[in-house]
Amino acid sequence: MAEQEASGLQLLLSTLQSSQDKDVILNILSILTDLLSIGTDRRIHYMISKGGSEALLQALMNAAQTAQPDYSILLPLLRLLAKVGQRDRKFGQKVQKLEAIDVTLSLTRKNLTHHLNLIHCLWVLRVYASSVSAGTTLGINGAMELLFKVITPYSKKHARTVRAAIEALAALLKSKSNSRRADNRGYLCELLRLYQDWHRCDASNRYIHVRRGLLLCLKHITNIQSARETFLNARGMEILFTTAQDCLDSKPLDPLLTTVTQILRKCYPKRPLPLATVHSSYSFSLPGTVSSEPPCAGPEDDYEEDGEEEVEKDLDNEDQEHKEEDDDLETDVNKLSSKPGLDRPEEDLEQYEAMCPELSFTFQELETESEDEKDSADVPGSLPGTHPRVIPNAALTEQQHCRYRDQSSMGAETGERAFKTPLQNWAKKGKHIGAPAFEGQAMGESVRDVGALGEREDPCKSQAPTLHPLLKEASWDTRIFHTHCTSCFIPSPAGAVGASDIVTKLLERHQRDIPFHSPHCYMARAGSTKSIPDYRVLAFSDFWGHQPPPYYQSMLERKYGVQRAKVFEDVRRLIQPGDVIDRVVFDLDRHSPSSADALDCLRFFSQFESGNLRKAIQVRKLEYDLIMNVDVNSVQHHQWFYFEVSAMKPAVPYRFNIINCEKVNSQFNYGMQPVMYSVKEALQGKPHWIRVGYDICYYKNHYRRSAAAAGGVRGKSYYTLTFTITFPHGEDFCYLAYHYPYTYSALMSHLEILEETRSPEKVYYRQQTLCQTLGGNPCPLLTVTAMPESKSRDDLEQFCNRPYVVLMARVHPGESNASWVMKGTMEFLVSSDPIAELLRKCFIFKIIPMLNPDGVINGNHRCSLSGDDLNRQWLAPSSQLHPTIYHIKGLLYYLCNIGRAPLVFCDYHGHSQKKNVFLYGCSIKETLWQAGCTVNTAVVTEDVGYRTLPKILDKVAPAFVMSSCSFLVEKSRESTARVVVWREIGVLRSYTMENTYCGCSHGLYKGLQIGTRELEEMGSKFCLGLLILQLKSLPCSKTLMAQAASLLDLEEEITDRWAQRSSSTSSLETDDEPPCGEDVDYNTDSCSDQEGDFSELDKEIQEISLRAEGETEEEGASEGQTCSSSVLGGGYISNHQATNSKALPLPSMPLGVFAEFESSPA
Ligand SMILES: [Zn+2]
Repeated sequence: MAEQEASGLQLLLSTLQSSQDKDVILNILSILTDLLSIGTDRRIHYMISKGGSEALLQALMNAAQTAQPDYSILLPLLRLLAKVGQRDRKFGQKVQKLEAIDVTLSLTRKNLTHHLNLIHCLWVLRVYASSVSAGTTLGINGAMELLFKVITPYSKKHARTVRAAIEALAALLKSKSNSRRADNRGYLCELLRLYQDWHRCDASNRYIHVRRGLLLCLKHITNIQSARETFLNARGMEILFTTAQDCLDSKPLDPLLTTVTQILRKCYPKRPLPLATVHSSYSFSLPGTVSSEPPCAGPEDDYEEDGEEEVEKDLDNEDQEHKEEDDDLETDVNKLSSKPGLDRPEEDLEQYEAMCPELSFTFQELETESEDEKDSADVPGSLPGTHPRVIPNAALTEQQHCRYRDQSSMGAETGERAFKTPLQNWAKKGKHIGAPAFEGQAMGESVRDVGALGEREDPCKSQAPTLHPLLKEASWDTRIFHTHCTSCFIPSPAGAVGASDIVTKLLERHQRDIPFHSPHCYMARAGSTKSIPDYRVLAFSDFWGHQPPPYYQSMLERKYGVQRAKVFEDVRRLIQPGDVIDRVVFDLDRHSPSSADALDCLRFFSQFESGNLRKAIQVRKLEYDLIMNVDVNSVQHHQWFYFEVSAMKPAVPYRFNIINCEKVNSQFNYGMQPVMYSVKEALQGKPHWIRVGYDICYYKNHYRRSAAAAGGVRGKSYYTLTFTITFPHGEDFCYLAYHYPYTYSALMSHLEILEETRSPEKVYYRQQTLCQTLGGNPCPLLTVTAMPESKSRDDLEQFCNRPYVVLMARVHPGESNASWVMKGTMEFLVSSDPIAELLRKCFIFKIIPMLNPDGVINGNHRCSLSGDDLNRQWLAPSSQLHPTIYHIKGLLYYLCNIGRAPLVFCDYHGHSQKKNVFLYGCSIKETLWQAGCTVNTAVVTEDVGYRTLPKILDKVAPAFVMSSCSFLVEKSRESTARVVVWREIGVLRSYTMENTYCGCSHGLYKGLQIGTRELEEMGSKFCLGLLILQLKSLPCSKTLMAQAASLLDLEEEITDRWAQRSSSTSSLETDDEPPCGEDVDYNTDSCSDQEGDFSELDKEIQEISLRAEGETEEEGASEGQTCSSSVLGGGYISNHQATNSKALPLPSMPLGVFAEFESSPA
């Protein structure tokens, strides 16, 4: 439409503002009413864009400010205003600007006894008040007093009007100054009383809207601290809790319950965590610091009592979040494309030559190498590696079962020997290391000693891990242990029997054949693992080993109302404290175990590698609050959990609450379950970590973080993860964890087995130490490639010139899923699978499987012993504080310097908020596009090769989803491995691999929780992806190509089958989480209820309009509604027939206006 030519709608609106002619005005109002009563909100927004709100407000001013206001004009006008105003985000400003507030208020005052007029005024006031600033002005001008006159005293007469007044009041109370004023005037107690009255007299639930409106008033007013105090003093908690009990089973009353729950949670008195200090139970003295004392952060109880964290929000800042995300993008092209200089002297890089022994490999070595290998094997000729190892394909259940069986039992031929030979080796080593350590020490005592934290004893003793459940009274499995093992535990002057003997006996009695795991080997390796608390106890689960169960586990369907039920249980502690026990049954900070003598309660234990339970409180008979230890030298970061629980009764539901969680949401709200390992089950041949627990949810609780524990922000809350478990056996020892544990000792024993099982003629395998960690543990570095085909110069050259692939994992210790993926990668790479053989011929793999061993060992979630997130130290790592990062970066620099920068770099992680597996990469162009940058991106040349690998993985790896990948460079990530390796080392394909903790929403595993089988499969499929990448994009020898092609044909079949099955599901994911049945309201003060949704108001307006067409109001007839039907029918509704027939001063306008609406932009 041409600019100069005002649209039909604009003409209508301007006429509406200026006309004095009643008929004209009525007709325009009628047209507008008709226009807006059909179609979508789009029409209303179009009208707003053409100045509709202003025109209606001006018309209101004109009509209301006359001596005898004409209600036949005012009523349709007010209805239109309510309808349009609620959708106009700038309505508050317009109302203020046109000074409509006072006019509307005085109109309301005049009509206090005329209910039809009054209800119209109240709707409009409510819409005004949805803007906080207009609401505040209304409050100052006495709107609340006015509304209170309408709603008190309690009476069912004019319930509609009362409802409108209450809803307007609720909107007004969103302004904190209004809430303060209302609280000062004692309105809160009045509201509580009214709520009780309405509740009591509404057995038939006819007035749910009134009751909900009152609850909304209470909800908003209690946003201020003083009102929360008034509420508590007025026994508000009891009143709401009790009234809610009457509503629990009725679905239509859900909105009431939701609001009650929000109020109860908000008003629950805030407390600090029941801990003496929020600092970690463990501290570690860092190099260069004088004292090991944690820095004093002042008084710890500075938690914010006044939790007014919610800033008053107008509707205008909806897009805030999006904007913030985009603000984080790096838009400085120079920063994106320039390569910074070395962060250390160049000569320092020479030391890394030693970490690339493959580059100086000679003929001689080739000979001695194989000789050595042969010598070192105990049984000549028994070396394994000849058994077929296909890529584990978790998807192909049947096939796979056979495969796994093959692998674990490996028949009586080569396989059997292959596995047993090394096992005997370890048994010997285990004895050697383990036996002396136990001399003269009762195992029972050693448990108690563990309590003495930090007390370092004879280093020899620290090498003597014991097995936790075995140390206890063996009552849980007398048959097994009593006869055979009890004697081992009794100290005898001659010295106790070594732990490995017990292990040997256990193994004799209970068959277990878990591939790539040996308890003896685990025990031996754990003996040299150094932890701050000096752990000398092994968790049975780690020692005995885990095998995925032979079935899949679906994501847990969320039970409707589970969060509400849990919150009510929590509130009941306060209101009905009769059954509250509140007894500390485990406390890491108190050295004597207090749970030992307590009967009738569970026993807890966590003083083993990766364990991190700090305190357990028995709240009620079957309910426990648990607090996890935060990261060492830190006051925050806890998400990971791992502990042992025993002394349980069978078939009894135990509720566990982990009360110091920090993240605002969790996959536990979307189908994820924690994992459990039962010792009894394991000994019965089911050594599985399985997903367990029900009634799971995650929500904000009433514990407040101290400023220190919230990174300086006051008043932040903790969150509760709650789950209920019915244990499979009584008197069992069970382990519960956030995710499948994978300890440092597990890695070290796994590496040992890998080395033993590989075929030395084919696999070049070197395990070196990248560096020692702060805690004194070696950080292993692996080199894997194929042995040269022959001693010929060509083959040696090919060997040396293979491109590098650098893989690493577990920089974040809580991300144990990353370790399982890495386990899959490593096992595949050294396997005899023909694809693996080919891969080894293509690449030299440098693998750092655990970048943060100390964090893993000490049960951290995020940090190293320095209290730093190591994946934020890559820009300038300190050789002192971040040695593993410093040296891996050094090695990468070295490779880059000799012209051998890796082809692919990938850092394996776990993602706690998303499903599936995906990659993050780096792209300048995508970052600039996303940020909407005006920079001419054509100038920036960029190889799009970074997209190839994820595209391939999307095809070959069932858990992988391309659409979740992102290639943006964020400022907040500039010091991560991915970005630094991309920018400083110049690796185009530099990735972070994010693995879900929860499960998959796409493809073959859709709806299933992820297990170690699927994680390991991801690791091997990643390798397959690398091979395809090599074939697709890089020059390689023809023979290799041919070999690969035939192998991949086989793979393709599998892939195709998978693709067929998954093609029915869209690969596009728009939302991470589909809405779940219950509003997941983890923020007590969120506005996540339907308050902002005015469809209810629209319905009310519509209803009144329809009723007005001659019918009497339902309650009016029976309960004395004053407005007569004649008034209702008296011309304030639009007359549809008349509208179009009556001549207007603007000929043919209506049609034009309709057309205009239809063509308006979306
Ligand atoms: Zn991570």
